Amino acid sequence: MTSLKVKLAKKFVSFVLSDMRKLVPEETSIIEPSPNSFDGKTVPEVVAIHGRPGIHILKMLIALPYLMKTAYYARKSIKSINKNPKNPKKTADKEFFHELEEYARKLGIVAVGYTEVPREYIFKNRVLLFKNAIVLLMNMDKGRMEKAPSVTAGREVWRTYAELSKAVYKLAEFLREHGYSAQPDPPVGGSTNFPLLAQKAGLGYIGKHGLLISERNGSSQRIAAVYTNIENLPFTDERVKLYSWISEFCKICNRCVEECPAQAIYPEPLVLKDGKKVYIDYKKCAEVFSKTLGCGVCIKECTFFKGDFFRIRKAYEKIVEKKRESS
Ligand code: SF4
Ligand code: SF4
Repeated sequence: MTSLKVKLAKKFVSFVLSDMRKLVPEETSIIEPSPNSFDGKTVPEVVAIHGRPGIHILKMLIALPYLMKTAYYARKSIKSINKNPKNPKKTADKEFFHELEEYARKLGIVAVGYTEVPREYIFKNRVLLFKNAIVLLMNMDKGRMEKAPSVTAGREVWRTYAELSKAVYKLAEFLREHGYSAQPDPPVGGSTNFPLLAQKAGLGYIGKHGLLISERNGSSQRIAAVYTNIENLPFTDERVKLYSWISEFCKICNRCVEECPAQAIYPEPLVLKDGKKVYIDYKKCAEVFSKTLGCGVCIKECTFFKGDFFRIRKAYEKIVEKKRESS
């Protein structure tokens, strides 16, 4: 039974997320993952392997229209690489980036970052066509996420996945219409490690729960990317300095560790031999995740979800100041 579940999940995933290598002509230069890359397992695969949804799978019905929209745009996005121009332009000016960000905002994107993708961020079973990335955040409604774990919160997660999947597709089309090449990467089953990519692009910092914490919405957002051949992206990596204190704050907070119903969040991230950090025990998480339509407790319990980012920073700075004075 277990292997049938896994087989079905894999079939579904490979139907939605076609293998990029099979879509491009053989001579296309592609960027391979590094030997140190993570295995890239999608949500359906993790849940099929480690989850125990049982009767709870019926809760998925409430999110079915969003699930189908997510799958529709994910598949369409990946197939769309065949529409890239034959001789794309390679550089863009300030006005273009301004226009792109305006359009992204209309699609519901709340923050845009630009960065180069390190090969070790690419999942083992994926490839990229371009090394430069436009990284995108879309907020999940806090009022709905506040109710996690619940059908309301689960529905909000899938609503955001669906809207963000549509947004990456539309943004890739926008790039192509302006003469550039693009590889849209939808938020579910992405080709790269999105929290790491968003952190590198200066959009926030990864908290103890393994999620990105942003200035605008704490940990209540989803991430996606569009890779592009544009060579002069206005990289935003420098902004990460504004957020690096978050990892020190997490050391004294631990709220998500205490509140996780599966005790799946490590009190200190595991540091693997190659230096990679693992924040969550995915096996433990998947069981609760599969019974609660996506759980979400670590999102709503995060101190940055509950409080204002700048107030938390001020309070933290005071603690640091006091410690310094007393030492
Ligand atoms: S999703 Fe739920 S079970 Fe998984 S780590 Fe977060 S709080 Fe824990
Ligand atoms: S709840 Fe606290 S420890 Fe957990 S990620 Fe948020 S700030 Fe960090």
